Amino acid sequence: MPILVMKFGGTSVATLDRISRAAKRVGREVANGYDVIVIVSAMSGKTNELVGWVDETSPFYDAREYDAVVSSGEQVTAGLMALTLQEMDIPARSWQGWQVPLKTTSAHSAARIEEIPTDNINAKFGEGMKVAVVAGFQGVSPEGRITTLGRGGSDTTAVAFAAAFGADRCDIFTDVDGVYTTDPRICDKARKLEKIAFEEMLELASLGAKVLQTRSVELAMRFGVKLRVLSSFEDNNENAGTLVCAEEDIMESNVVAGVAYSRDEAKMTLISVADRPGIAAAIFVPLSEAGVNVDMIVQNISEEGRTDMTFSCPVDQVARAQKAMQQAKDEGEINFHDLVADTDVAKVSVVGIGMRSHAGVAAKMFDQLSREGINIKVITTSEIKISVLIDRKYLELAVQALHDAFELEKAA
Ligand code: ADP
Ligand code: ASP
Ligand code: MG
Repeated sequence: MPILVMKFGGTSVATLDRISRAAKRVGREVANGYDVIVIVSAMSGKTNELVGWVDETSPFYDAREYDAVVSSGEQVTAGLMALTLQEMDIPARSWQGWQVPLKTTSAHSAARIEEIPTDNINAKFGEGMKVAVVAGFQGVSPEGRITTLGRGGSDTTAVAFAAAFGADRCDIFTDVDGVYTTDPRICDKARKLEKIAFEEMLELASLGAKVLQTRSVELAMRFGVKLRVLSSFEDNNENAGTLVCAEEDIMESNVVAGVAYSRDEAKMTLISVADRPGIAAAIFVPLSEAGVNVDMIVQNISEEGRTDMTFSCPVDQVARAQKAMQQAKDEGEINFHDLVADTDVAKVSVVGIGMRSHAGVAAKMFDQLSREGINIKVITTSEIKISVLIDRKYLELAVQALHDAFELEKAA
């Protein structure tokens, strides 16, 4: 039997009624002749609640226990979805990560998938099971402990299953009807894209567009998975939603494909560190060991052998970063005058493959922001994106202004 992977995000399984609606959609694909692998998220809001409980109990938590707690949301929806399908007389069974087993690294809270053996589930399909309902977001480490794949990780579970089982398609059902030029929740001119190239989706996702987890796009690109994003609230036809595909499969596209943002950033500056060989390593190795995801880095000009070093990281990692830097100072690894944290910043980025061959995108971006009176604090660029750090209060304004400046409401 051909296999289809269908992933339902948090809002799509938020209530028993919605689980039932999702199950009907699965039932239609079973009737179409597919064996279906359903990947479920936790009910919407559940994972945030669980993370909140962990933070409250233990601010510098043991990530193994974080995973034990936050993986539980998906366990519930997997069981409920299997029961709902059984009530519809569709042979279905739930699978937790460890039962598959979905094998991951032991990097708790940000584990990577290493292997998905297909024998267990395929054997059950062979015995007449029509739907395997798999708890997204979770796996098992070589030590046999539950791991999770990072926030939004059910997307990655879905794509990894599609690759492992050679599925015809991987459909990601969510609360918007596809990938847009920017988040339709903060820009009403956002336009739905029929297709988007893997590279562009990869950048948008890694820069904050949470419609797909970055790693899921990476895997789809590597394994050639036919990946589609579509609404779980509308009836979709064959061409609904957005297809994430190879660059060659897109005829026309704008220089800038989209605008992404990440709201919860922080800018940290180490004031007056010694400007000597090895200083960057002395700062960033301890930060990495403390689990701080450093993003942008700027080293300022040096005066009398001392310099300021600025970096950005997620705002919820500021305390970890401060602790790591203080410890490095106490141990004599680095010396600094002060560590200043600006916790009210956000990152806005423009992304597009067309930037490879078009000059002037950065100039246009900076010009538009200056027209709106928005100060840029840090800039980084790569071949197909430009990112700036700005005050968080200007985030929506910046996204809308850039969407206008690059005329993203119009198709190429
Ligand atoms: P799910 O719970 O289904 O995984 P998510 O909340 O993780 O859903 O992702 C869907 C959300 O992603 C949308 O509600 C939307 O606000 C946000 N989003 C951000 N950028 C984009 C974009 N470019 N296109 C579509 N949605 C986007
Ligand atoms: N429930 C997890 C989260 O909220 C995983 C997911 O939904 O993809 O991050
Ligand atoms: Mg998601």
